[in-house]
Amino acid sequence: MKKLLSVLVVLVLTLQVQAQTQEKLPRVIILATGGTIAGAGASADRAGYTAGKIPIDDLIGTIPSVKKIASISGEQIASVGSQDMTIEIWKKLAIRANEIFAKNEADAIVVTHGTDTQEETAYFLDLVIPSDKPVVLTGSMRPATAISADGPKNLYDAITVAINPETKGRGVLVSFNEGIYDAREVMKMSTTKTDAFGSPNTGPIGQAYDGRVEYYSRAVREVNPPKPIVLTADTKLPRVDIVYMYADAPADQIDFLISKKVDGIVIAGVGNGNFNKAYMEAVKRAVKAGIIVCRASRAPSGRVVLHDEINDEELGTIVSDDLTAQKARVLLMLALTRTKDKKQLQEIFFTY
Ligand code: GLU
Repeated sequence: MKKLLSVLVVLVLTLQVQAQTQEKLPRVIILATGGTIAGAGASADRAGYTAGKIPIDDLIGTIPSVKKIASISGEQIASVGSQDMTIEIWKKLAIRANEIFAKNEADAIVVTHGTDTQEETAYFLDLVIPSDKPVVLTGSMRPATAISADGPKNLYDAITVAINPETKGRGVLVSFNEGIYDAREVMKMSTTKTDAFGSPNTGPIGQAYDGRVEYYSRAVREVNPPKPIVLTADTKLPRVDIVYMYADAPADQIDFLISKKVDGIVIAGVGNGNFNKAYMEAVKRAVKAGIIVCRASRAPSGRVVLHDEINDEELGTIVSDDLTAQKARVLLMLALTRTKDKKQLQEIFFTY
């Protein structure tokens, strides 16, 4: 009897110590959206797979040692390949993230996401989450069932980035293949390689390696961040489309968008946001119809300069600064919920 009692006391004490240690660990909520990181294939040696098949709790189960560094829980927000990412899922993610921080349910959030549109989601969240607590996106290039699947390592690294004290106040980040990237700058650079991301204008801001996180730089616009854009469940995002420019392109797509009465058009122009005469005339028609036209570039790096080869004041266009067309679209959609004034919109592109 005495022996049984002492065993019970030891057990209770051990459980208490475990609970206390667990309490002290940083709390991370993983918001899962699907993607290859949750993908399952028919066999380990084939690249083909279905994205978003594996539930988040199973993904967390692939990195058991993470329990020593963080108290983790997972929520399934969606289960899609990120080519099927939608504005509705973006809103759901953002609203849940803001709720988590407002109610102090976690110290950091990790979002698992397909890589195809990860940069767009990262930038969207960056613009609408006002908290300085870390939000880190990650994913994988190989499905969980593949040889050398990169998902578990990327997820583990993203958690180490999310709980690192130096991550606070850096806005939304992407952690991938040991690189840490700013949401505004990051871009998918490879269709299939595991080193899929880069920031062509600025490079990565840090590195996650062996459970350690090192930062080398800080994004300038995160040092003095502009006012976040307010997003609620009722926010209706305007329609903004992207048109790609190429040699001898006819302007039919722009005229089609005018007929659709879209709110904004981003042109992925050539070089410094240039386009041909057919586009020029169609852009004039779009501007006359009250559509905001933003000049971006199909070139992966550099900025589009206001009033350069094209006189924006005369034409009535704005420029994307150094945002890619896909990110300029995200910013224009959100900025249009605040103002339709071209000068103010341009100012937003120069400061966000
Ligand atoms: N199309 C998939 C997606 O974006 C594959 C890319 C990936 O996740 O790596 O979800």
